[in-house]
Amino acid sequence: MKVLKFGGSSVASPENISRIKNILSSYNDKIILVVSAFGGVTDELLKAGDLAADQDNSYKSTFQEIENRHLDTIKKLIPITNQSRVLSKVKSELNVLETLLEGAFFIGEITPKLSDKIVSFGELLSSYIISEFFVSEGLDCSYKDSRELIKTHKIGGKNTVNFKETNSNCSNYFKNAKAKIIVCPGFIASSANEDITTLGRGGSDYTAAIYAAAVDADILEIWTDVSGMYTANPKMVKQAKAIPHISYEEAMELSHFGAKVLYPPTIQPVLAKGISINIKNTFQPEEPGTLITKSKNEKGKTVRGISHIGNMALLSLEGPGMVGIPGISKRFFEVLSQADISVVLITQASSEHSICVGISADDVEKSVEVVNEAFAYEMERGRIKPVHPEENLAIVALVGDNMKSHQGLSGKMFSTLGKNNVNIRVIAQGASERNISCVINEKDVKKGLNALHEEFFEENIKQLNLFVMGVGNVGAKFLNQIKLQNKYLKKNLKLKLRVIGISNSRNMYFDEKGIDLNSWSDQLATGEKANKESFIKKVNEMNYRNSIFVDNTASHEIAETYSAFLSNSISVVTCNKIACSSEYGNYAHLKSLARTYNAPFLFETNVGAGLPIIDTLKNLIASGDKILKIQAVLSGSLNFVFNNFNDTTTFHDIVKQAQEEGYTEPDPKIDLSGIDVMRKILILARESGHVLEIEDIKNKPFLPKESLETNNNEDFFKSLIKYEDDFQKMFGDAKKNNSKLKYVAKFENGEASVGLEQIPKGHDFYNLEESDNIVLFYTERYPNLPMIIKGAGAGADVTASGIFADIIRIGNF
Ligand code: ADP
Ligand code: ASP
Ligand code: MG
Repeated sequence: MKVLKFGGSSVASPENISRIKNILSSYNDKIILVVSAFGGVTDELLKAGDLAADQDNSYKSTFQEIENRHLDTIKKLIPITNQSRVLSKVKSELNVLETLLEGAFFIGEITPKLSDKIVSFGELLSSYIISEFFVSEGLDCSYKDSRELIKTHKIGGKNTVNFKETNSNCSNYFKNAKAKIIVCPGFIASSANEDITTLGRGGSDYTAAIYAAAVDADILEIWTDVSGMYTANPKMVKQAKAIPHISYEEAMELSHFGAKVLYPPTIQPVLAKGISINIKNTFQPEEPGTLITKSKNEKGKTVRGISHIGNMALLSLEGPGMVGIPGISKRFFEVLSQADISVVLITQASSEHSICVGISADDVEKSVEVVNEAFAYEMERGRIKPVHPEENLAIVALVGDNMKSHQGLSGKMFSTLGKNNVNIRVIAQGASERNISCVINEKDVKKGLNALHEEFFEENIKQLNLFVMGVGNVGAKFLNQIKLQNKYLKKNLKLKLRVIGISNSRNMYFDEKGIDLNSWSDQLATGEKANKESFIKKVNEMNYRNSIFVDNTASHEIAETYSAFLSNSISVVTCNKIACSSEYGNYAHLKSLARTYNAPFLFETNVGAGLPIIDTLKNLIASGDKILKIQAVLSGSLNFVFNNFNDTTTFHDIVKQAQEEGYTEPDPKIDLSGIDVMRKILILARESGHVLEIEDIKNKPFLPKESLETNNNEDFFKSLIKYEDDFQKMFGDAKKNNSKLKYVAKFENGEASVGLEQIPKGHDFYNLEESDNIVLFYTERYPNLPMIIKGAGAGADVTASGIFADIIRIGNF
């Protein structure tokens, strides 16, 4: 004999119920088939009861929906010839339900007994309709009301299954039942004096397990809407996978800590008889699902699953009067238990100064009341503080039989959460060492689960979630590079880059599944109006692990947002030089936020675009070297200008060309005044460990004062024409000395300077081509012959690849 249970979603519609008939066709055994109420009906019944008890008339429309749902299902499933009998039976049951609701409405209250009675209609009606459908389809099927088989009695004020009576009822009945399929309602039972009782929310699983144990079934199959028990709730963690094989204890622990797919009490009866449970998917019956047995789990696996319980609260009892006084915890737990409040997790500080319990948030009000009352005497005398609950919390638990024989798992769990800025309120480890659980903020649950899942289950593929600000020249190239490289990164570096948000100055667009990089610009055009504050808010709200904010702009305003990201453990990668060249305090603050919140702040492209200049500098210093001197040509734009300017061209035309070809900032004066190079050498000096401000850098401008003082590009270019003779003279002087003009930045003995210089033949700087940059690092280890980094130092493509490299650095972090 086999016991099959089909849950609420498996019987939620006539189409789904027809699926069950198809599934049954492959069984030759005798079957006890337990069904839940049609999906959602239990909630509706409870709602109707509550509304009626509140004397809210709208309970009637809820009732009406329940009625329509059942009558419609009959009309769709059962042939017209049989319909009227089934309809009239169901209608008369619904009349009883309506009378009960009316009763609650008139009295203005609902007792637990009445509530059980009302909610029992869900399973009563669904099981009856399904059995009639099977009969009408010619299946060898009969119906048995579970209230006649499962008996409950009160233990400690709670309805509990009376196994002795139940087992004997079941084995007698099912042994003699003739039909091949016996359909029974789940969830409902009856007490010794024939009152209707229920087995708790999700209790149809338990019904099926009770039957399976009573008849020594070959197997208990739980058919639901997912393909088994997953490594984490698949609704929260997309990457979760069904666990093929798991032990009873592991399954029990996972379900106890929130894996709703199995109602926790279900395991006990079948465990005692050694009956296997198979969790199967009604919508994908070909999937093997999860097998739950006594046997040990697959070799080498430590953590088998991660589960969570939301809607939790912490209640702490504390005060100096608790130390060394026996019986306080006994009283504490006693009052909670007497108030029917279930305690999910307990921790006690070693000083005995406090006991902290995790309870459902629904029980907070009641528990505060009963605890404050029970300890009123001590509280009045200041020995114990009044309890203050903390709400909006959740428990997250790692579960696995083999966890006890492995060190370091809790370390890994907590560091993973910490790295993702998930604050841990309380930690508890089960005595069986089969689970480690902790309490975190409810808002962090999704991020926490995903981060833990990635750490413990995913083949080390790390997903980086990118929020990209600025999709102009550099940004567009960057997005394209991601598109082309994602496959390679996944295969070779085990990294997956997902762009979740993009913005330019006009629009912003988000897609939690990852923006399609083939059509990002179309999508951006459909996005909402760009707004810096809402962008930050959105990124923080999404609260993804491994989030990175990428700034491809040159904007002051955007540079001011970095601290809002870093202080939420969101990394920042930027080619925007403004933040790092702002006042030292701000630069240092951002670096310190990055350290405190474990969120890298990288800006390799601030100097030399894609050239590995800052990273090299950092590595030199980290390995104990000291920077003695830096000499560099750091402006791709100025190089382009001075490489092309000569006595056959005009300075104006070359600068114009540089601007048009994207070698300069949109405002070319930023390059030509030397500001841009000042910022770069300032950043290198700071990264070498020196406290320096931009005003400390000497700059002897080569531009005439009038050009420097222009307010717009038009006037600026006009002034270049006016002073062409001066520019020609600069060129002529250098030529006379067999030299070339280069704009050089220097740093030595704590002092930095920038300026135009004549570079003689043979010098390292003489042969710089096009937009090349070059940096000479003189260090203690490279005192005479410097370390040289040279290559293209401007252009959207190389800048984008520098940003890309920073992202990869974070991925490997
Ligand atoms: P049924 O109505 O069939 O009894 P439930 O809704 O009670 O179904 O249980 C199935 C649901 O349990 C899934 O849809 C899923 O959202 C949730 N769930 C939570 N944790 C897990 C887990 N670890 N594995 C599978 N499902 C889980
Ligand atoms: N219908 C009940 C509930 O929703 C029992 C069950 O589906 O298991 O809780
Ligand atoms: Mg269920």
